[in-house]
Amino acid sequence: MPKYNYGCNVCNREWAQWHSMDAPSIECPHCFSKNIEKVPSNFITITKATQEKKAAKENVVDHIEENREILRNMRENAKNEDVLNND
Ligand SMILES: [Zn+2]
Repeated sequence: MPKYNYGCNVCNREWAQWHSMDAPSIECPHCFSKNIEKVPSNFITITKATQEKKAAKENVVDHIEENREILRNMRENAKNEDVLNND
């Protein structure tokens, strides 16, 4: 029996349900509303993977910014030391 994911438009919950192709009317197991949508299971996986990939990329950018900041501070310190030495 194929598995389907459903989302409820009333309580915004998602759940998986197994049923045959000619499914009887399905209702939300949480609030028993029939205002539900079928969610393709592949779609959820892809969306999640894309988000994780994006998050990883953002982390890399953060690290670069952090390194730039450290480098800048080191230059500032070096400059200050030069001034001290000149005195
Ligand atoms: Zn519901």
